[in-house]
Formats: sequence, structure tokens, C-alpha cells
Amino acid sequence: SYNFSAGPAKLPADVLKQVQTELLNWRNTGASVMELSHRGKDFDACAIEASNDLRAILNIPNNYKILYCQGGARAQFAAVPLNILGKRTSADYINSGYWSQCAAKEASKYCQINEQNVVIKQNGLTAIKPMSEWQLNDNAAYVHYCPNETIDGIQIFEEPNFDNKTVVADLSSCILSQPIDVSRYGIIYAGAQKNIGPSGITIVIVREDLIGYAQKILPSVLDYKILLDNDSMFNTPPTFAWYMSGLVFKWIKSLGGLKAMQQRNQAKAQLLYQFIDQSDFYRNTVATANRSIMNVTFLSPNEELDKKFVSEATQANIIGIKGHRIAGGMRASIYNAMDQEGVNYLIDFMRQFEKQNG
Ligand code: PLP
Repeated sequence: SYNFSAGPAKLPADVLKQVQTELLNWRNTGASVMELSHRGKDFDACAIEASNDLRAILNIPNNYKILYCQGGARAQFAAVPLNILGKRTSADYINSGYWSQCAAKEASKYCQINEQNVVIKQNGLTAIKPMSEWQLNDNAAYVHYCPNETIDGIQIFEEPNFDNKTVVADLSSCILSQPIDVSRYGIIYAGAQKNIGPSGITIVIVREDLIGYAQKILPSVLDYKILLDNDSMFNTPPTFAWYMSGLVFKWIKSLGGLKAMQQRNQAKAQLLYQFIDQSDFYRNTVATANRSIMNVTFLSPNEELDKKFVSEATQANIIGIKGHRIAGGMRASIYNAMDQEGVNYLIDFMRQFEKQNG
């Protein structure tokens, strides 16, 4: 089958095969990795290796710490303000779609939020205001934004470059899809279940000077200082997800790192958008500069045909193509693990469906 699900998403076939081979006897321990203590030397080595590989791929500077959390990206929606507000009482939240709004709503339980909508219309298409026009408040503890809005299929490709501003970014659906300059961010976080591994683990990359200012009410399991001091093993970590994330990091390395991933991802997205653009049947409503290379949304001429598309696609072994319930239409999530062959298969199906229903 061809899996276009937004998450949990398709994983690299090579990684799954390796998991299958070593599932019952991992590293000659005579046990499965998920049966072993997180405190044992085998898992410890595996955990450190994963962090070293992630640091190498993302080119993470030494003054940034990698933490492994639970509770998904949504736990970070609360963990971020509670960890780094310090004595400040407000934060800037950029609203670019569904997930950035959710982050703002959660943070508003803990601080005053300055929410700013940056979604604009350009010739009838959805676009995002350039960062130079974002208005940030001097007394805000940080600015939060979401570079890739998974549901809306909107991506912000510009990287932040604000003077004296701590930038927090939710990279859940675009981490490891292309190189980024980590030093421009204070905190990067991402649920693993799209570009990294199985659900259940969340990667948090934090600049070290932001650690140590948690509010008293913050649960210990989300306190960056406690996580750091305990090598992200204060509570029992999701060992299987951590191990598999490590395999995915190695897979990315083997393909040539993030530059190579970016080329692959741009090529896949371009194929799909080009096909949509030349068609009179399908359309995408995002301005070219903000079209996501991870989540490609598209509509047929009406809702009934959308439904028919999803149903017939499923019969043709295309999984997870239905748009999110709040957005409607279709969405092809083409994360790192999706290859060009899968995209071509989808385009062939779309062409055929258009012929029969156009
Ligand atoms: N942020 C973004 C950009 C997402 O795409 C998602 C999930 O789809 C979330 C946050 C929520 O993640 P989680 O379910 O890991 O809390």
C-alpha cells in the first residue's frame, strides 16, 4: 500500500525490516529492546548514539541540549511557557493555522498571550505575512510559531532572525525534512510520529541558558532541568520509540543527511503541485511561496467527488489521503519516508480519477 497519512506516518521500509530482524534478539542480548531496562548498558549506548546522530544530522551546536519527552507536542504547548516564562508574564504567539492556534490556547492558561494572525489572502490564495512584518512585543518572554501547519498544508520557509528574541518552534511535521539553522531558535520541539519514528516520544532541543527557570507548578516530568539532569530518564522513557528514532537518524545519514532529504522532498512536492496546477479538476488554495513540501492539500470540484476520491483511492491501496475533518478535501502527507514512486502512483490515480469524473 501507499501510505499518505499525516501521522502516525509511513516509516522507512529499510528501518522496519531492521526492526523485524532484531525484534526478538537485539544486539545479541537474547531479548527484545523493549524488554530491557533503560538503565542497562545496551540501551544506554543506543540512547546516546541516537542523540549523537541527531546532533550530527541537524548540526546542533554544543550549547543546545536534546531532551526526550512524552505527552506529544501538545505537552510542550504547556511545558514551554511553564519552563521559560521566568518572571515574565506574557508571550507572543503567531497564528498561522490550526496547530499554532492550539499552542496559543494551551499557553493562555499560564500566561498572557499576544496572538497575532499572520494568514493573509493573496489573489484568493492563502499566504503568510513575511517575518519582517510580524509585530513582536519587547516584554514578551518568547515568540512561538509553527513552521509547518500540518492540517492547512501551509509552510513558512523563512528562518527567524529577530534581535534579542527567544524563538520557540513547533517542528512536529517538518523536522529533518531540510537543513535548518538551530542557533536561530531557543527551543525546537517535535512529536516523533511524522518524520522521526513511532508516536510516544517527543524531541525537544533547548538552548541551555533557557533551562532552570521552571515555575513551581510544572510537573517534574516536563521540567527541562530535571529531564537534563536525568538524561531524559527521570521517568521510564518510551524505549522502543527512542530506539527506532535512532534507526531513522542512521537512515537519514545513510541517504546523505538533510540536504539530500530536502532535495528528495522538494522534488516529490513539485511533482504533485505541478500535476495539480495543470489540472482543471484539482486545486490547491495555498500561495506558491507557502505551499508545504510535507503536507499537500487539494480539492476536487465538490465535496461529493472528494468523498468518492477518498473511497476509490482506498480501494487502490492509497491510505490516509482524506483531508483533516476541519479542512475537508484531500491531503497527501509526503514525509521523508515517502518515495517518489509513491507520489507517482498517487498522481497516476489522480489522473485516472479525473478522466472518469471530470
Ligand atoms: N503540532 C503539529 C504541527 C502537529 O502536526 C501535531 C499533530 O499532528 C501536533 C502539534 C500534535 O502533536 P501530538 O499529537 O504529538 O501532541
